[in-house]
Amino acid sequence: MRAAVLHGPDDLRVQEVEEPVGDVVVEVRAATACGTDRKMLARGHPMLGGYPARFGHETAGVRVDTGERVLVGDSVACGACFACVAGRAAICRSPTWVLGGFAERIAAPEAALHSLPDGLDFAGAAMAEPLAACVHAVARGTAAGDVGVLGGGTIGLMLARLLVLEGRDVLVCDRHAERRAQAEAGGARSSPSLGSHELIFEAVGRVEVWEAALAAARPGATVVLVGGCPSGTTVELPTGPLHYDELDVRGAFHHTREEVDQAIALLAASDVDWHALAGPTVGLDELAAALRAPSAGEARKVVVDPRQ
Ligand SMILES: [Zn+2]
Ligand SMILES: [Zn+2]
Repeated sequence: MRAAVLHGPDDLRVQEVEEPVGDVVVEVRAATACGTDRKMLARGHPMLGGYPARFGHETAGVRVDTGERVLVGDSVACGACFACVAGRAAICRSPTWVLGGFAERIAAPEAALHSLPDGLDFAGAAMAEPLAACVHAVARGTAAGDVGVLGGGTIGLMLARLLVLEGRDVLVCDRHAERRAQAEAGGARSSPSLGSHELIFEAVGRVEVWEAALAAARPGATVVLVGGCPSGTTVELPTGPLHYDELDVRGAFHHTREEVDQAIALLAASDVDWHALAGPTVGLDELAAALRAPSAGEARKVVVDPRQ
């Protein structure tokens, strides 16, 4: 079968590979791409575990054995580490990662699979993975009514939509007018600059934006850091507001199995409109170019259909 294989930084080859072997084989119908995939192509990623490597972690398709439509979750928590035992499977110490959605077929443990409701397209279903991370991030925040979201990429837009659904007043900050328009279409307000808020989500993953998120915190605010910065980077923390204004600063990473199911339900009910976040559908041969394309204008996810 054909698969996209990373051989080194910026070296992606579509090639014939062995048929996957594993508990369940799924024929991929849609695999969506995100910023992590861009990073994986451009400079590698610890999660790849060396080259050659397969990638693609937002994957939906059809089980070869039963014909059932499924989302292939990108991880299975161990269930035994202290984080899992404490009910925090998102930070499981030894998860099994399930990568390789950019291929005709993928093998996955049964525990990674989620069945899909009728009527939810494969491309929409694949987006349940990033949406689940947003469901998780919202749960890491507070019930504050006044919320700022820094960054109007697909994660920022998903976060904003989830918060709007909860009846909160959400301001999305992004310098791209097209993304501000997308945020407003989802029921948020938007601005090129952030004011100060009771609850702030950082959804960019750059050191200077993490610092801007802290600077926009009102006294007593909570700041949830959702975007992953390049590994090894550090931020400067302002000691005054952290202490005298009692700021809460929290990371948000990944999701739990239950949050993936919540995300699937939100997409199936059209509470989150995945069509507004879907970009062009491309085949495996066009994936590298699509991932290298500069991300400007509207925030939209590349959808890969390996049958194209
Ligand atoms: Zn992703
Ligand atoms: Zn665990």
